Amino acid sequence: MKAIRIESPGGPEVMKLVEAPAPQPGAGQALVRIEAIGVNFIDIYQRMGVYKLPLPFTQGQEGAGVVEAVGPGATEVKTGDRVAWAGPIGSYASHQAIPAARLVPVPSRLDSKSAAAAMLQGMTAHYLVTDTFPLRPGHACLIHAAAGGVGQLFCQLARRAGAQVIGTAGGPEKVKLAKEAGAHECIDYRSQDFEAEVKRLTGGAGVHVVYDSVGKDTWEKSLKSLRPRGMLVLFGQSSGPIPPIDAQLLSGGGSLYLTRPTLQTYVLTRDELVTRAGAVLGAIERGDLKLRIEKSFPLENAKEAHELLASRKTTGKLLLVP
Ligand code: NDP
Repeated sequence: MKAIRIESPGGPEVMKLVEAPAPQPGAGQALVRIEAIGVNFIDIYQRMGVYKLPLPFTQGQEGAGVVEAVGPGATEVKTGDRVAWAGPIGSYASHQAIPAARLVPVPSRLDSKSAAAAMLQGMTAHYLVTDTFPLRPGHACLIHAAAGGVGQLFCQLARRAGAQVIGTAGGPEKVKLAKEAGAHECIDYRSQDFEAEVKRLTGGAGVHVVYDSVGKDTWEKSLKSLRPRGMLVLFGQSSGPIPPIDAQLLSGGGSLYLTRPTLQTYVLTRDELVTRAGAVLGAIERGDLKLRIEKSFPLENAKEAHELLASRKTTGKLLLVP
């Protein structure tokens, strides 16, 4: 099998293509022949060593493909099933042995590229909108990087939930995309002060919730954009990690809430995983949720994919194909 291997953390050049024997599925595992791999920001954090993984490792944690074999006791899938996943590490490869309980069925009319593209970003937007701070009519929300992969799915789901959706994005083209995806308003936070704009757009009140995946560059103004008892949902750090926070900031802002959620804790049980993935993949299959796949690269060009994602120029999902 082919795989990308990282021997030591660093820049995109540390990702090397290697040939290795395909793994045997162990107890409870399925061996999947991978057809499409999702590229995510977390892959960059892991490659750089910001999030540490034991070395050497094959990164990637999202994909779709076909089950080639099942190990002892793996009852959730069978050979020939089309499956998708988000979470199990080792997807920058042609094959991966994955706990069968972490695989979900791909609807028959959905191709593997769409399934791979939707799993992580789609389920993330879904849990943030439905569970972390459940949006409903009357809520005003601020979504940073609203033209990004998670962002565009987020705008669609938040709009559908009935909330007032304010996005931020870098540059006029991205502002346009975020509005097309469902944001009522979108602030170009490269040229405008988003805190002042949020106050203006909410009649001075601020929003009920900020979903912030940008981190270092935005978190302080995000807190200040909240109304009393509002919630800052810090779910990423595309601009870098935030410093340790003084809890007094939360009282000063008016009994604010802060949470730092991760997808894995919102798909804890197989039931929750299958339900959440089914909701997202089903919506895409029906055309209710629009995916934007920006570009597919051959697996050996993972370096270019990482450079593009980090460049801030993408407005949709990047994929690798083994
Ligand atoms: P995006 O497509 O959103 O790309 C990142 C975007 O962040 C950029 O396009 C850019 O948009 C914005 N950005 C702002 N500052 C920077 C910077 N300094 N460097 C690079 N980008 C910057 O990526 P994804 O949709 O894949 O992921 C979005 C975020 O969600 C990531 O932070 C990721 O880690 C997080 N995430 C969290 C999960 C969780 O469960 N906690 C799960 C999945 C993703 P602009 O130009 O408009 O500012």
